[in-house]
Amino acid sequence: MPAKSAVAPAPDAPPRAPGSGESQVQRALKKLGLVRDIDFALYLPMRYEDETRVVRLVDTRDGDTVQVEGVITDSEVVFRPRRQLIATLDDGSDTVQLRFFNFYPSQQKQLAPGARVRVRGEIKGGFVGRTIMHPTVKAAGTPLPLALTPIYSTIAGLAQPVLRRAVQAGLARAPLHAIVPNPMMPEGAWGLREALSFLHYPAPDVAVATLEDHSHPAWQRLKAEELLAQQLSQLQARRERAAQRAPALRAPADAGSLHAQLLGVLPFQPTGAQQRADREIAIDLARTQPMHRLLQGDVGSGKTLVAALAAARCIDAGFQCALMAPTEILASQHFGKLVGWLDPLLAARGLRVAWLTGSQKKKEREAMEAIVGNGEAALVVGTHAVISEKVRFRRLALAIVDEQHRFGVAQRLALRGKASPAPDARTVTAASPVPPLAAEGGALEPHLLMMSATPIPRTLAMSYYADLDVSTLDELPPGRTPVVTKLVAEHRRDEVIERIRGQLAQGRQVYWVCPLIEESEAVDLRNATATRDELAEHLGDAVRVGLLHSRMPTAEKQTVMADFTAGTLHVLVSTTVIEVGVDVPNASLMVIEHAERFGLSQLHQLRGRVGRGAAASACVLLYATGDSGRVGEAARARLKAMVETGDGFEIARRDLEIRGPGEFLGARQSGAPLLRFADLSTDLLLLDWARDLAPRLLDRHPELAREHVDRWLGTKAEYLKA
Ligand code: ADP
Ligand code: MG
Repeated sequence: MPAKSAVAPAPDAPPRAPGSGESQVQRALKKLGLVRDIDFALYLPMRYEDETRVVRLVDTRDGDTVQVEGVITDSEVVFRPRRQLIATLDDGSDTVQLRFFNFYPSQQKQLAPGARVRVRGEIKGGFVGRTIMHPTVKAAGTPLPLALTPIYSTIAGLAQPVLRRAVQAGLARAPLHAIVPNPMMPEGAWGLREALSFLHYPAPDVAVATLEDHSHPAWQRLKAEELLAQQLSQLQARRERAAQRAPALRAPADAGSLHAQLLGVLPFQPTGAQQRADREIAIDLARTQPMHRLLQGDVGSGKTLVAALAAARCIDAGFQCALMAPTEILASQHFGKLVGWLDPLLAARGLRVAWLTGSQKKKEREAMEAIVGNGEAALVVGTHAVISEKVRFRRLALAIVDEQHRFGVAQRLALRGKASPAPDARTVTAASPVPPLAAEGGALEPHLLMMSATPIPRTLAMSYYADLDVSTLDELPPGRTPVVTKLVAEHRRDEVIERIRGQLAQGRQVYWVCPLIEESEAVDLRNATATRDELAEHLGDAVRVGLLHSRMPTAEKQTVMADFTAGTLHVLVSTTVIEVGVDVPNASLMVIEHAERFGLSQLHQLRGRVGRGAAASACVLLYATGDSGRVGEAARARLKAMVETGDGFEIARRDLEIRGPGEFLGARQSGAPLLRFADLSTDLLLLDWARDLAPRLLDRHPELAREHVDRWLGTKAEYLKA
């Protein structure tokens, strides 16, 4: 046990607004996932600040965060170039300027000439002398804390001291008794309360390096508990799924089947990998347990066909299939392709493909919902509108989710139970081509096929998605030409425009992707519009340059996409909405501006938009130089990976290497990162320990297992089952 955790300050309830209801603070806390006492206790500082010492200005370096004490020798408010308060502090060894853009009259008083103050902030060099922008200011001589100060990651509207008090209160109240008996924990690990106190309230002589040393026994305890909770919840999910029932889809594979007919109308031969995936799926679908399969394959590997073949098997067995995509553009591309392949074949059976999105007109939507409800729609394609409450399937048996990581967990959960006939769907029998699905005893789950173009590296798949079966398309359709990737500094834009002219002269088309400049869509849009205008001016009247962005009304987006597909638009400038799914084989050049700002898998996805036809294709990554930014180390590694490999699996491996598994999975999960403490690249021994203990604990002490999962994952436990 640690001898020296500092004593927790007295508990203090988080501030509440007077009256009932949720205060702003509580809302902010909730956003951070802080609701139960235990959530607060497990919310560790993001870093620590050393306020224990006051240093002399002469001993500081530019860029240091420093705490200095001295007398204000001069203080004034200036109005040019901007209203600001500038004070000069002299600590006897040197002077420094303190600057504040937004300040209160009280601060002005606090910094009046002659005042003795202690300030803290980052010191910067500059031609007007050394400066600290917006330092925190206290009266000189205020007692110095003895230990490091924890700093918690926070959001707007939640001040650090408020958050800190709330964490302290939560930690003091949280039940932190050992749920899993200590002898079962990894040897040497500290107790949970000791570990948390140690990290929340550093003892006086504990150094930052010690607190951040993840092999410390305090960290070991947290990691072990977290991994155990994760393994337990996976195991529970797997066992639950084993107990779930799904309609067994066993269709005769004769020449008259939709599956066989689909293969017959294709203008190409499925690749070996596509055939293999199709067979793997067929085996799953024939079972009475729901399929839970990930179909992973690089951009352009032909996942849509595999999805169509699975849908055909489902329809052959007399059931309905739903296909969801994260964006409307992507969904409509799927819809176009699937209608082309399947609609004539379905029509002969009195069936059709339905289209459902949020942006649909009410009347059209209701018409679609009606044919979904009576079973005429054998296949339903759309965005998450497909699984909205209102949509009642008659005989849903297979749900296919494209780009599964871009869907929220809640949306995936909404699919559960959809295979059971809705009560009102059962009554719509009159004109139904298919009888409703009878659930004898208990709800039925649909089979689930998830598709992803960003593969999960094997080690992660094994430990993390242990309950997921995986089919891999490791072969591209023949006739693809590798895309040549070039890095170009942004000031060489002229050369890129020459390149574009070259491609256009050959009758090819070009994508130009603008970056996310900032959180504001309005600014991004302005930027994309400016780029469109600039290109239109450079390329001349004969070239048609279109613009695509996420704010555009759907109909307009579709028109632009249709024009680009038809070749009447030659250059498409877009924000990142074209990231997935766009399929225009005549496009041969992809320009990505500020490529350093994109994630690696996103860059790879974007690049996958070209090289779909026979023409030699290229991807130009424009990167920032000089004033518009610097390319950091991680960004450099991403760009390097793009130039060096075109293989999606290698890209995923590099991405994992650059980001670490926590972030890698976190980003994929489109929500909170799943592991906060453990790191799957370094904690494999602990992972083994957790994998080993989880089944024994669940068998022998199911109540402890449940309590442990609840403590660690709480409401998040539901998520992991999805
Ligand atoms: P992704 O896996 O990225 O979703 P798609 O399903 O969009 O890939 O397929 C990319 C392109 O390749 C589409 O135009 C599709 O029709 C075509 N395609 C798929 N399978 C084959 C194949 N076996 N042979 C030739 N072209 C194919
Ligand atoms: Mg796709």
